[in-house]
Amino acid sequence: MADWESIDLANPTEEHRMLREMIRDFVREEVEPQALEYDREEKFNLDLFRKLGEYGLLGISVSEEYGGSGMDATAVAIVNEELSYSDPGFCLAYLAHAQLMVNNLAHNGNAAQKSRILPKVCSGEWVGCMAMSEPGYGTDVLGMQTTADQNSDGDWVINGRKMWITNGSIDEDGTPADICWLYARTGTDAKGRAEVTTFLVEKGMAGFSVGQKIYDKTGMRASNTAELVFDDCVVPAENVVGAPGESMIHMMRNLELERIGLAAMGLGIARRSLAAMNQYASEREAFGQEIRDFGQIQRHIGESWAEYRAMRAYVYDTARNTDLAKSGNRLDTDGVKLFGTTAAKNIADRAIQVMGGYGYVGEYTVERLWRDAKLLEIGGGTLESHQKNITRDLSRSPEAIEE
Ligand SMILES: Cc1cc2nc3c(=O)[nH]c(=O)nc-3n(C[C@H](O)[C@H](O)[C@H](O)COP(=O)(O)OP(=O)(O)OC[C@H]3O[C@@H](n4cnc5c(N)ncnc54)[C@H](O)[C@@H]3O)c2cc1C
Repeated sequence: MADWESIDLANPTEEHRMLREMIRDFVREEVEPQALEYDREEKFNLDLFRKLGEYGLLGISVSEEYGGSGMDATAVAIVNEELSYSDPGFCLAYLAHAQLMVNNLAHNGNAAQKSRILPKVCSGEWVGCMAMSEPGYGTDVLGMQTTADQNSDGDWVINGRKMWITNGSIDEDGTPADICWLYARTGTDAKGRAEVTTFLVEKGMAGFSVGQKIYDKTGMRASNTAELVFDDCVVPAENVVGAPGESMIHMMRNLELERIGLAAMGLGIARRSLAAMNQYASEREAFGQEIRDFGQIQRHIGESWAEYRAMRAYVYDTARNTDLAKSGNRLDTDGVKLFGTTAAKNIADRAIQVMGGYGYVGEYTVERLWRDAKLLEIGGGTLESHQKNITRDLSRSPEAIEE
């Protein structure tokens, strides 16, 4: 551990640092110029999304033999942070594909599924989504009502609706994602909770369609959110992931990466908001002096800096301690999302406040970041679900506090 004092948690290796630099260039040149327009028009930029494949980002955590980049949770956090500095909505579409669908398949699929599907989703030829939530069941996920029954041919027949699915529709014409990582109920335990199975549902399978694209979201408008319909949808047995009824393990494991990913998005929002308010506080004068001379403005900037730095340390420390092939980091993945998402929203809020009327209009970016930040407190687990999980885990493992 010769150089432990010089380690930057956010850029622990040269490879991570180079990744960050590459994405910063890409974001400046390609993401930033389109962000405001796609938010205003509530459109998903599919062409730009496919470019992420050329940069090896769509399969960032997939091994190279399947067309991925073979990187870790820290790399995932770096990509999300940098994309969200400019366009969290676009980043959410990226997260749904690369972290919710592709990473899940890479770690839980069998060899045949991985070799057939991963190269297509890593290149961007196919867009993926993950469907867990339903109109009546979100946090209470094991109440899900979407069912799958095996018929006499061995195929599975799926019925139900999924709600709020990012990338569920890839355009305005109701074209579904090319591949959907679907959780469905294939049994019921003694407490009435779902026994969950994962199905790889592909575009064109009979009975799989988009119910509606959901418009008029508060934020994350550059990602498409859709309701998906499964109406006697027939899925062959080879598209079942793992053993029927045993998908809770990969659902929980993948949620850990999702939570780091969402917290890292908050970090990008926080950094951009802080930079904007800091710059503006020197440019704007009132009562004959820079507004940064006012104590109340100093409080906005000072508190935002401290929270941003705390988020950065917690996000990258949690990422460093997360092995994508295993679960077991729930306490901190819940913790970092609980802290980082509200901190991001508050920092964006302060940026608007510091910038006054200018902060309130789209051209100055921070109002969009503020709207986007709110979703981070809901998607991938609500704040309340993190509070519940943390409290339960600390009752089981109080020693975690003393470590
Ligand atoms: C833009 C967007 C994109 C999304 N993308 C996806 C996606 O790609 N895939 C997907 O599957 N889902 C997705 N979601 C769904 C998201 O994960 C859910 O919205 C979230 O899990 C909350 O579920 P819910 O909306 O049904 O709220 P509910 O679970 O009904 O919660 C309502 C309120 O009750 C509280 N509550 C519920 N249970 C408890 C409890 N036990 N204790 C205390 N409070 C509780 C909640 O915290 C919340 O405040 C997305 C949502 C949005 C808005």
